[in-house]
Amino acid sequence: MPDLFRPEIAALSAYHTPQYPETDKLDANEVPYDLPEWIKNKLAYLLEQGIRINRYPEGDPLPLKALIAEYCGLTPVMVSVGNGSDELIRSIIIATCAGTNSSILSAEPTFSMYRITAETLGVRYIGLERNADDFSLDLDALANTIRREQVRVVFLANPNSPTANLLSEEALATLQSLPVVVVVDEAYFEFSRFTCAPRLSEWPNLIILRTFSKAFRLASFRVGYALASPQITEILEKVRLPYNLPALSQLAASVALEHRDVLLSVVPEILEERERIGRFLADLPRLRLWPSAANFLYVRSDSDHELHRKLAERGTLIRVTGGGLRITVGTPAENDRLIANLASLLKPGT
Ligand SMILES: *Cc1c(COP(=O)(O)O)cnc(C)c1O
Repeated sequence: MPDLFRPEIAALSAYHTPQYPETDKLDANEVPYDLPEWIKNKLAYLLEQGIRINRYPEGDPLPLKALIAEYCGLTPVMVSVGNGSDELIRSIIIATCAGTNSSILSAEPTFSMYRITAETLGVRYIGLERNADDFSLDLDALANTIRREQVRVVFLANPNSPTANLLSEEALATLQSLPVVVVVDEAYFEFSRFTCAPRLSEWPNLIILRTFSKAFRLASFRVGYALASPQITEILEKVRLPYNLPALSQLAASVALEHRDVLLSVVPEILEERERIGRFLADLPRLRLWPSAANFLYVRSDSDHELHRKLAERGTLIRVTGGGLRITVGTPAENDRLIANLASLLKPGT
């Protein structure tokens, strides 16, 4: 029986995150605030009155695509929606590399789903190392690897997770000149305000990924979208599963876009809090902090695992990843506790 399953799958572990009771959750880059109650009520009403639960949902959710297109300043044929951007990552790898000898490439440390998804599909993943000082790309190594190996797709989170930095203009120009599909994952766009969307018209191999899981506060509903040329979105439509987006998720994303002024109104507070935490972290001994264009901060200490465990024991859960620690900006109260806990651990005598 076990022989019937691929050995490389046996070598993987299922995606799960450890649960710690009663902690401030600063480990998953979500916004710390649930939806306002009146928006939840509106969704509950729509569930009751607007959805036939016994029927399959809209397979091609045109109303949602139209709202996304309007939000992004594009046309609906340039939008494809997925069950989280994770599904779109998988669709892109299926449509380009599955069943071939070609590879996908990214730059480490980065979002683990690029590697994990490729591995589950039997597609080779090449992880280039980023420059150690500022996590920028080694553009020569990138171009050489693409020339030497059979790379069809490059995945780059922008800003990157966990390192929080943006791609340089030079890197984007180089990427645009390469004969590959380039996926720019803009999961944190609403925090960075930097987008490649205006380049879609002159960059036919560009795919932009976005999500409702972060600034739009809908992580539990699993809605992501891709922005690309109509030729590419048509291909993505062919490989997605039927009815990939549940009806309630479609409605939730539409409602979130309709009330985006309300939902995104907490972004400035989160950015101010990020600066406040950053000023504190920069002063700590034995900790190195990098600049951030997102709603989280990336640091390295001389004992990341120990610091992570001691913080969790004190009620602050952050993430150990990519050879460092990623800290999501929480509510001001959560951030106060983070700062107090870090001070008690790293500044003895205070
Ligand atoms: C959080 C995150 C996503 C979001 O994934 P969903 O499947 O849409 O929840 C995508 N890419 C990156 C880099 C992220 O950090």
